[in-house]
Amino acid sequence: MLDWDGTVTERDTLSLVMQRFGDVALWRRTGREMGRSLTHDEAIAISFRTVRAPLEEVVGWLLGEVRLRPGFAELVARHRPLVLSSGFHELIQPVLARARLDVQLVANRVQPRPEGWRIVFRGGGVCDHCGEACKRAWLPPGDVVYVGDGYSDRCAALSARRVFARDALADELGARGVRHERFDDLRDVAAALAAAEPWPDA
Ligand SMILES: [Mg+2]
Ligand SMILES: [Zn+2]
Repeated sequence: MLDWDGTVTERDTLSLVMQRFGDVALWRRTGREMGRSLTHDEAIAISFRTVRAPLEEVVGWLLGEVRLRPGFAELVARHRPLVLSSGFHELIQPVLARARLDVQLVANRVQPRPEGWRIVFRGGGVCDHCGEACKRAWLPPGDVVYVGDGYSDRCAALSARRVFARDALADELGARGVRHERFDDLRDVAAALAAAEPWPDA
């Protein structure tokens, strides 16, 4: 199970799009309110209402900016992970297609309206643990390995058997005393998972 923005991608693509096409001050303000006066979904919905560019223009620009973390293709080939994102199919699929990667994806969708982009949330209901419509509802049953970096990963990471974390997620789990492994790029994750397998290729 992999988060997309800031986990598979080196930089958060929602942040990149907001910096180029939206009200970035509003993005930062609503980001600080996540878990306080706003849920994660409310914060991104408010921010993306200030993006008015056509989808094709945003995707074209994003394809020139986005970089995938080394090791992603290897993880996909070996483990067929699910990518679970608070971003949008419309911004993720073109990046996967260009990398020629066929990946199972759960994400929100966006209606790129000229008066402001409108997010269509993936649903899943409000979580009993965190009180938001979080990613936990989308985890498959059984033992989950979770790889993430940010606020939207917190609750799902707490329910995983094994967690690889960086940035804000690593800091948050560290502060709570939750066991996790820090990663730098996805080759680290692939190597750690390979080391844990007693019979490679079995
Ligand atoms: Mg992220
Ligand atoms: Zn939750």
